[in-house]
Amino acid sequence: MSRRGNRSEKKSASLPRPSSRTRLAFVGLAIAAVITAVALALWRPRQSVAHGAFAGRNLLFVTIDTLRPDRLGSYGSNAELTPHLDRLASESVRFEHVLAHAPLTLPAHTSIFTSLYPTEHGVHDNGTFRVSASLPTLATTLQDAGYQTGAFVGAYVLDARFGLNRGFDVYDDYYGEKRGFLSFAQLERPADAVVASAERWIGKARSPWFAWMHLYDAHAPYRPPPELARKFPDDLYGAEVAFVDATLGAFLDRLSAAGRLDGTVLVVLGDHGESLGEHGERTHGTFAYDSTLRVPWILWAKGLRPQVFSEAVRHVDVMPTLLDLLSVPPPESTEGQSLRPYLTGEIRYEAPPSYFEALNPHLTQDWAPLTGIVQAGHKLIRLPMPELYDLAPDPKEKENLYRQKTGLVRRLSETLDEISAGSDAVSVAPPDRETVAKLRALGYLTAPVQNRKGEYTEVDDPKRLIDISNAYNEASELFGEGRTEEAIAIFEDIVGRQPRSSEAHQSLAYALHQTGRIAEAVAILEGAVRSGLSDTALLGLLGAYLLDVGELEKTVGLLEELVRREPDYAEGHNYLGIAYGRLGRFADARKELERVLDLDPSSASAYNNLGSLALSQGRIEEAVDHLSRALAIDPGAATALNGLGFAHARLGEMPRAIEYWRRAVESDPGQFDALFNLALALADGSPGEAVPYLERFVREAPAQRYRADIEKARAMLRLAADGR
Ligand SMILES: [Zn+2]
Repeated sequence: MSRRGNRSEKKSASLPRPSSRTRLAFVGLAIAAVITAVALALWRPRQSVAHGAFAGRNLLFVTIDTLRPDRLGSYGSNAELTPHLDRLASESVRFEHVLAHAPLTLPAHTSIFTSLYPTEHGVHDNGTFRVSASLPTLATTLQDAGYQTGAFVGAYVLDARFGLNRGFDVYDDYYGEKRGFLSFAQLERPADAVVASAERWIGKARSPWFAWMHLYDAHAPYRPPPELARKFPDDLYGAEVAFVDATLGAFLDRLSAAGRLDGTVLVVLGDHGESLGEHGERTHGTFAYDSTLRVPWILWAKGLRPQVFSEAVRHVDVMPTLLDLLSVPPPESTEGQSLRPYLTGEIRYEAPPSYFEALNPHLTQDWAPLTGIVQAGHKLIRLPMPELYDLAPDPKEKENLYRQKTGLVRRLSETLDEISAGSDAVSVAPPDRETVAKLRALGYLTAPVQNRKGEYTEVDDPKRLIDISNAYNEASELFGEGRTEEAIAIFEDIVGRQPRSSEAHQSLAYALHQTGRIAEAVAILEGAVRSGLSDTALLGLLGAYLLDVGELEKTVGLLEELVRREPDYAEGHNYLGIAYGRLGRFADARKELERVLDLDPSSASAYNNLGSLALSQGRIEEAVDHLSRALAIDPGAATALNGLGFAHARLGEMPRAIEYWRRAVESDPGQFDALFNLALALADGSPGEAVPYLERFVREAPAQRYRADIEKARAMLRLAADGR
């Protein structure tokens, strides 16, 4: 990665000019001079916040996902959704204009925690990128400075595997609880669960500590608790914000009552906003208007004078500001600057330019890449149909001035070129299938496009294509609500409209596969291959699905060719290994799975498959070893838990086996092998206890795959009923 030094030059300290001086400029020179002198004499720093004013304090850092400023009373809302945050804001520094650099969770958090633009930290999308292990972050910096560090995240998009976990002693990304919709239980958890975990940790932490809480509730789909849905029936998004406010507020009250806030610097920050239909966008990630780029930032510390800072500031400024206040030296290269001197008026503030991008549609669907810059109140969006807005008179960005203000466009373009130069060419490997599946369930598209066009015209502009983004979005929400047929119909429609889109075919195939229509999923992908689509992600998915339908020879043929073409494609080796294993080619299988671990030493899936392989060959102890490693990497790995249950059953240790199967089912309600194993094991000793599991298996297990087992479960239920 190319690194530049800190481009935003630190302004040299100069005497501030009180505004009275300019207002008096028309008065006679002598009088003006006298008055200016008086004004200067009277001028004092409003209350100085020295560098390191809060040295040694704890840092409580709260990011609220998908938070629009206009839902907060302190930022102008009348809806009374956020009484706690509003009270906090009145006692804090409230930054009025805060800009994200990407309207997506992982890229935005990476900029917050590294003080770098996406062009510098290289994380341009959720799921397909990992934060480089060589980048210092807020967490590594504070840990090096002696802080105890704990992270408590609300959703899989920030899972430890994406690399923000470095520098944290504890990285709690266990998504065990979620209101309703059990099928996605492992992907996100509500604010109260995140807060409870953080609160336990803070209760035991020694000072100074740094705790980061990520609260995901306001992210779509909006499913607030019923009482808040009733209170704010016309704004379910706002009701989610209200839930976060109430949960966070109660927590801060408890900390305050325990006297634990006085020694703590507190930050509440949004990662990006939400479009809510503005500019035709439903949620976020496709466009980069202020509805998704602007976020709230509230900074509180005992002794910090409450004020509103109305100039434009950036996500990259957060980390240098906090480190400055805490007296911890920042890493050498940061893009942002500390805002501390400006809070006191020591130095006159001039907003530096702020880079932004929204590249998910480019990366996953080969639409035109969207980048841009905000400078001196103007926003330039670089696209085939370019846009320029004057944000002060036109905050909703309705009047495109691009054709009128050519001089300004040229200047902003130069700044944008300067920032973009040195950016890595964006190229990414497809993520593993499990990651893709989890991110799809949260509504993200993740399969990277290969063989991009490189040249884009108006037909590739996201403004022309936004209804397709919205359709993906709607389909994934319907799917999450269990309205799978409606979702599949929308995906079919997208395939019809975008027949050259690999992502469209993969989304449709994924939805079919998830509903048990695996043969149809295979047919969709094979059709795509016949039509000439041949990117790695699509072929890899086809290989995995062929494996699921038991077409082992076909799988081997496809994947052998794929890994010849892409020798570093770990996922391909993994599925090839599984296919060899099922064909009884154990030595080949082992070789492929070990190759996966060469490429990706933290592949829980490879350990899991090596474990299964050992199990199938009766090497139980070796199996336990591999499966335990899988579990150590991914504590929620339900297939490893199922395998460990199986291994202990083989060792005759039924109570332990039952415990593992229970954990497997708890971790992933869709782990039907474990569910069936658990029911069978229980039926042996305590048939009554087995009944609810058998009933659930009959009700929920996909009929196509588990037909025989479902029949068996039905028979057992009849026996149990007769026995009663
Ligand atoms: Zn987010």
